[in-house]
Amino acid sequence: MSFASLNLIPPLLSALKAAGYEQPTPIQIAAIPAVLAGRDVMACAQTGTGKTAAFLLPTLQRLEARRAPAGRGPRALVLTPTRELATQVRDAASVYAKELHHVRLGTIVGGVPYPPQQKLLMRPLDVLVATPGRFLDHMERGRIDFTRLEVVILDEADRMLDMGFLADVERIMAATPATRQTVMFSATFEGRIATLAGRLLKDPERIRIAPTEAQNAKIVQHVHYVSDIAQKKAMLMALLKEGAMGQAIVFTGTKHGADRLATAIGQNGHTAAALHGDMRQGARNRTLAQFRAGAVQVLVATDVAARGIDVAAISHVFNYDLPRSAEDYVHRIGRTGRAGQSGLAVSFATRAEHGALKRIERFTGQPIAARGLTGFPVTEPPAHEAKGPAPAGRRMARSRDRNRTGRPGGPARDGRGLAHRSPHRDGEGRGPAARARLESAGGES
Ligand code: AMP
Repeated sequence: MSFASLNLIPPLLSALKAAGYEQPTPIQIAAIPAVLAGRDVMACAQTGTGKTAAFLLPTLQRLEARRAPAGRGPRALVLTPTRELATQVRDAASVYAKELHHVRLGTIVGGVPYPPQQKLLMRPLDVLVATPGRFLDHMERGRIDFTRLEVVILDEADRMLDMGFLADVERIMAATPATRQTVMFSATFEGRIATLAGRLLKDPERIRIAPTEAQNAKIVQHVHYVSDIAQKKAMLMALLKEGAMGQAIVFTGTKHGADRLATAIGQNGHTAAALHGDMRQGARNRTLAQFRAGAVQVLVATDVAARGIDVAAISHVFNYDLPRSAEDYVHRIGRTGRAGQSGLAVSFATRAEHGALKRIERFTGQPIAARGLTGFPVTEPPAHEAKGPAPAGRRMARSRDRNRTGRPGGPARDGRGLAHRSPHRDGEGRGPAARARLESAGGES
């Protein structure tokens, strides 16, 4: 598949060539035609999938195709959760629009003086990228002219809600023309996001891109079956002491759990800090800044707080508690293996968490290798798994372990003292239906 076969116009194609893009990513293949056709779109895709080009390219092409009405204000509005993302989106737009004529771009974000922004809003703009808070501020002072507005893009909508922007987004959207095209990108489409999408989007094309094996190729995934929480904690402490650790994020299911575990990890000799939704935004920002600067080695976080953390030095993600949703798992492990580095995602599963683990494997289509750890008793998967009609791959894995260690179920050991069992390759959830779901497009389940 080429960009040309997506019917993009020559100035965009040559800008993409200059940027070194050779072929479209799955989200681009799925979203570009829908946005070009003027459809509302609800797309589930993570950062790193090429989602920015997926909405900017067709939007720029639609703007180019039609004469801009006279007046001021934006023709396309992109709302993003953070200033950093707003800047990134604007920069991407200027790369893609390089060979188009007179595309006027602007950003409206917080933390900078108002007067230049007021001037910007007095002018006609093609694409305006904004964070909701400051944009609403201008809107309430009557400085936003929506008469030319054709399309609104909500980028990382889930993060906007996590950051408390729901009311702001709703007020902004209520002020936009009903004739607008609306495009929504989110890492998940669950709960509040689905409700918001239902209110804002008209007959949307639904696109879901689960990360492919290739995207996750640099992230090695393991699971340690544990007998109880005490073993989980002791294993985590042991793993944190291993030499190859750079920085790590440990995910917990609760805010209290994050606080308690951060304290325990601190007592274990690491610099550790908790990050969760009960903390004030200022404290969250400070903790994140310390983590980014390397002053905190281990961040213990809940799912909500960890959204969007992009730190290249994260070598390990630990799922101390497994997430409730399989999509959250994908999002969590994507915190490592960034910027071309490799990463290790280690999960712990008590008996109670085994169902969650199966759901994750089904969702990603990737079996998660079971491992043991030197000095810890081997905990088998729950009995119904072990006793049931074990798939061939699993049975073979067990007999191989027996051969290597001389003990039934005993783990083999590698040179680093890590003991591991062969990955179970039971093929579950990798039937045609799951594959189809993974391989993109189509409906939200
Ligand atoms: P995003 O998911 O939009 O944050 O994009 C992630 C990175 O992938 C950015 O650095 C983009 O410049 C890059 N990118 C997006 N689409 C493509 C493509 N088709 N080919 C190569 N790189 C791309």
